Amino acid sequence: MKGTTLATTYDTIVIGLGAMGSATSLQLARRGQRVLGLDMFTPGHDQGSSHGHHRMIRKSSFRDDGYVPLAERAFEIWRELEEETGRNLLRILGEVRLAYPSSDIRPDPTLGGFIEILDEQQLGERFPGFRMHEGMVASYEAEAGFLRPEACIASQLELAEKHGAELRHSEEVTKWSADGDGVLVETTRGSYRAGHLVITTGPWAAELLSDLNLPISVMRIVNGYFEPSRPDWWRAENGAPDFLLGVPEGGYYGMPSVEGIGLKIGRHENGEITTARTIRREIDGSEIDMMRRVLDLYMPGASGALLQAVTCMYTNSVDDDFIVDRHPEHEQVVFGCGFSGRGFKFSCVVGEILAELVTEGATRHDITFLSSHRFGSPPARVM
Ligand SMILES: Cc1cc2nc3c(=O)[nH]c(=O)nc-3n(C[C@H](O)[C@H](O)[C@H](O)COP(=O)(O)OP(=O)(O)OC[C@H]3O[C@@H](n4cnc5c(N)ncnc54)[C@H](O)[C@@H]3O)c2cc1C
Repeated sequence: MKGTTLATTYDTIVIGLGAMGSATSLQLARRGQRVLGLDMFTPGHDQGSSHGHHRMIRKSSFRDDGYVPLAERAFEIWRELEEETGRNLLRILGEVRLAYPSSDIRPDPTLGGFIEILDEQQLGERFPGFRMHEGMVASYEAEAGFLRPEACIASQLELAEKHGAELRHSEEVTKWSADGDGVLVETTRGSYRAGHLVITTGPWAAELLSDLNLPISVMRIVNGYFEPSRPDWWRAENGAPDFLLGVPEGGYYGMPSVEGIGLKIGRHENGEITTARTIRREIDGSEIDMMRRVLDLYMPGASGALLQAVTCMYTNSVDDDFIVDRHPEHEQVVFGCGFSGRGFKFSCVVGEILAELVTEGATRHDITFLSSHRFGSPPARVM
């Protein structure tokens, strides 16, 4: 117990105050819960999955799956948060998708009806910077843009505190255990008891959820930020949109230069498999060269001087869907992980879901497709 008395008991402890944990803490505190939130870093840190100025948001999905209703609810919650905080969290820029039909991000207008297909002439008239090679398909989604992740997290943590949550940063959780029908959480500074536990530890999920042996892996992702040499084509202030490219060189995403930050590009697959404790933070020249090559081929004038390059981590489940569930052996414990490279936009809804699971025992959202039971019921234990 590290010499600390077990003085305080909470309704719910949330471990990990990144995208998902900040949202969950707010949603729980709003529901009148006495919440303790714990994170081993300080808000806005760049060690996990939620830093780097922007996260794309859209309503469409790439497959016929259950994400569209969650995205629609996410837009509502982000807008409510903007009103409540007076902060500008979400900016709509529109999104162009340019892909070969074999790509897994090819535009499919039958999915949800959020995108319009553009032929080469229409694309050229509206967004003259893109180069549509033979055989490619292009689309435009008007209701898409980006969230400001650091501001989203800060806003939710501030509001959670306003609603009475106690948040402790720079405090690492080393262990949790079921304690009667509650939980005991041990940290580098002390121990805490609560009736419920929420685990939202992002790329560190495999550590505190090791007993579930979830089929997740952590992928190193590199983002480059470039000063466009054609700002008339690639600055948001001049009408440039977010973009997705499904090309033989890989699956790429990004956003134009906006609010003084350079045009951002990243490859969403094929990164090194790593762990949150061992990720290689150095970035090779060849990784930047590859981004430039792709931009020069499909978006000439986008890549001038390199302004910044950062590493970040995706946590991917084996089927690429998120995992949001109750612990199979401890019903007072719920968790969310495996949010891949598209989780941020949903984080406010994930917070709502996890808070409902804690306070009501069920959620209004259809999350059956996110259950851990899809990997085998019950999930295998690590001995
Ligand atoms: C480069 C990149 C681009 C992306 N682009 C998009 C995008 O455009 N749109 C989109 O929707 N999504 C995007 N994503 C995905 C999205 O950002 C993630 O899915 C989301 O941020 C994951 O949030 P999280 O809460 O699971 O993890 P995090 O935000 O990393 O939070 C986990 C927290 O847990 C804490 N923690 C871990 N272990 C412990 C412990 N033992 N004790 C205490 N604290 C602990 C960590 O310090 C951290 O703060 C992108 C991700 C990356 C990396």
